[in-house]
Amino acid sequence: MDQVLTKTEKINVLFSAVEADPFVKVGGLGDVAYALPYALRNLHPEDINNHEIDIRLVIPCHSFSCDFQDTFTERTVFDVKTAMGDIPTTAYSTEINGLPIYIISSRLIPQDTSVYTSDDYVDGLKFLFFSQATLALVKHLNWQPDIFHVNDWHTAITPYLIDLQKSNGRSEGRMKSVLTIHNLPFLGTGTEEAINDLGIPFSSNSKLPVWARKLPLPIGLSASDKIVAVSPTYANEILTPEFGCGLDKYLSMRKNSLSGIVNGIDTQLWNPATDSEILARYSIHNLYERQNNKHVLQNELKLQLDPDIPLLAFIGRMSHQKGIDLIIDGLRLLKGVPWQAIILGTGEVKLEKQALQLESEFPDNVRTLIKYDSKFSRRIYAGADMLLMPSRYEPCGLAQMIAMRYGCIPIARATGGLKDTISDVSKSLNATGFLFEEESGQALADTILKAVETYKNKPGWHIMQTKAMQKDFSWHQSALKYTRLYMGLQG
Ligand code: ADP
Repeated sequence: MDQVLTKTEKINVLFSAVEADPFVKVGGLGDVAYALPYALRNLHPEDINNHEIDIRLVIPCHSFSCDFQDTFTERTVFDVKTAMGDIPTTAYSTEINGLPIYIISSRLIPQDTSVYTSDDYVDGLKFLFFSQATLALVKHLNWQPDIFHVNDWHTAITPYLIDLQKSNGRSEGRMKSVLTIHNLPFLGTGTEEAINDLGIPFSSNSKLPVWARKLPLPIGLSASDKIVAVSPTYANEILTPEFGCGLDKYLSMRKNSLSGIVNGIDTQLWNPATDSEILARYSIHNLYERQNNKHVLQNELKLQLDPDIPLLAFIGRMSHQKGIDLIIDGLRLLKGVPWQAIILGTGEVKLEKQALQLESEFPDNVRTLIKYDSKFSRRIYAGADMLLMPSRYEPCGLAQMIAMRYGCIPIARATGGLKDTISDVSKSLNATGFLFEEESGQALADTILKAVETYKNKPGWHIMQTKAMQKDFSWHQSALKYTRLYMGLQG
């Protein structure tokens, strides 16, 4: 039989971020920067119109490098031209699970500080230099990216540097660029001096507000071929004055280049059927086992041992964004129903204190734990009945996806990624959670009461849990969408 040979078309992508699991992870960006390139690299050509994504990751060499030094296979040594002189730079090559990674080391990327410091100049110099260095690296590789994919303000300036080269007639001009916004309010404010010191001219794009022409994220937005927000709803929200951080008018002009793609979660790492941190492992086929995890939690936290009392949870940063104050107000308003709540988080001291105060007001109902504890968070996802996530804004959000995967039903504000990933109870049989609009403790309390009513109907609640656990939050879905975006930039 004749064999039909189909030619695959390769798209080379350099994915640039300032943190990446397993090297260094401070927040959600660290998850994305490993998981998304890994998922893209592992897509089957047949699923993406006979394309193959040769994606590689580039990150700065923070202090973590020592742990991974043994895996470095190659060294590329080069100079990066800046207004501070030619800076000697080294790119180490390594590979994690088949994903090629370049790690950039230089004296302008200090190893004795944390990834993010409180000094805007220090961070600005480090990340903007890194952005220059990633572009310089490309000239020294025998592999050329078709697309430069950058993330947040730290690496946003690279597409602008590509544009500057283009106007100087340099060959890198053929590269296209994608900028993913994980959190718009972080524009790179306070880095103007670092931009100057490195010799990067401010933008002269008259479509940008004047103040924005000196900041890395807006400068990068103005030069990127495609802009991605981490959920479709957030992509729309940033076009409004409420969420647009002063860039809403500019972003509206770029509407045709803007799209929203939700992040995924690592469905192997977050799997209640195999999670070794939880006592009773379960899937949709033995959901009754979940009850044991609730019992263990109640016991461990000295809460009343009663399977029928709804157990609410918050897991996250204690910040204004996450609406922890709305939880505190909302729980105070819960009357006439039994409830218990676990609050796990760290963040703003004032909010931490308020959460602790709530525990002293409701010693029989509330347990507040001020710590970051990944293992404990797993036991909460696996044992609590409902996750509270009344975020004021939420570009994507991971906690609600993890919660659904564990059959912990989210009660969340209808904003950003929460709106895109949670099917509200009004969707009847396909519901996976409860959404509410108004930014108030009362609205949250009303929605909790609605959820508690549903919770009393056990068969109905199990259907909701099953639907939530069956939702596909894998990176595969996001990777398919990014591939379509990359393909649109080709040719
Ligand atoms: P963020 O805006 O902080 O990135 P996400 O919901 O996108 O919020 O992701 C938060 C992640 O961090 C989730 O995986 C959540 O489980 C985890 N997390 C947040 N705070 C804590 C904590 N105190 N202990 C354990 N895990 C936490």
